[in-house]
Amino acid sequence: MEYIDLHAHMVSRTTDDYRAMAMSGCVAVTEPAFWAGYDRPSVDAFVDYFNRLTDFEPKRAATYGIAHFTWMCLNPKEAEDRALTREVLEVIPRYLELPTVLGIGEIGLNRVTKNELAGFKDHVDLAMEHEQLIHIHTPHLEDKWKGTKVIVETLAADQRIEPHRVMVDHAEEHTVDMILDNGFWTGLTLYPVTKVSPARAVDVIETRGPDRICVAAACDWGESRPLAVPEFIMEMRRRGHPDSLIRRVVYENPIEFLGQSPKFQLPDREGAVAV
Ligand SMILES: [Zn+2]
Repeated sequence: MEYIDLHAHMVSRTTDDYRAMAMSGCVAVTEPAFWAGYDRPSVDAFVDYFNRLTDFEPKRAATYGIAHFTWMCLNPKEAEDRALTREVLEVIPRYLELPTVLGIGEIGLNRVTKNELAGFKDHVDLAMEHEQLIHIHTPHLEDKWKGTKVIVETLAADQRIEPHRVMVDHAEEHTVDMILDNGFWTGLTLYPVTKVSPARAVDVIETRGPDRICVAAACDWGESRPLAVPEFIMEMRRRGHPDSLIRRVVYENPIEFLGQSPKFQLPDREGAVAV
């Protein structure tokens, strides 16, 4: 089945992973900017990273017929440095003009500190000024509920925000209601060890229905599976769900959310012409 992986950190994956994803039905990925595993030393390191996200990765993905899109930001872990945050915010607008950049993300909170919250609001302002979609990272483990609540309440109090243009990702069973009930899109990121397993994601679809929910691998350099979405598809089938419902979650929903950006286009396979 064709699918779109809305959250994949392909900079940390091999070309073999692109190949395996393509052969499993992946037609497009979107890659949010994230932490490098270490704090970047200067704005130049961000420029280098953004260049890779907007130039090298789309080319690498295209080799396997996968459309690659990306999101721009300074992640919450590095937002403790307010001076660096301001410098990075100055370079982001020029990337927002590029054809594969869909918006601002993955912004959010990690330890829910004052500086993180200030950086989060700076990015929301940037998204509003440039009429961008927003992709949001919610904290992990013990900070999940508190951080998600702060994010949802901050955005709900902002009159400029249109909730249907915001994806609040890394939802779990205890946060999915507050996200959806406030009108946002949500994402279930599928991991073999931490976060949501494919089986737990199916449980959520069974209890909440498929409206405004996407699933993604969120694969990075940690223990994660680039083929997590096909695993979700397999689990849905094992439980007897029809392909129409599965396709809604893994293909039609991402198109509905991402398609709010005119830049999001899938390869035209029907009209493909060999050269
Ligand atoms: Zn991520």
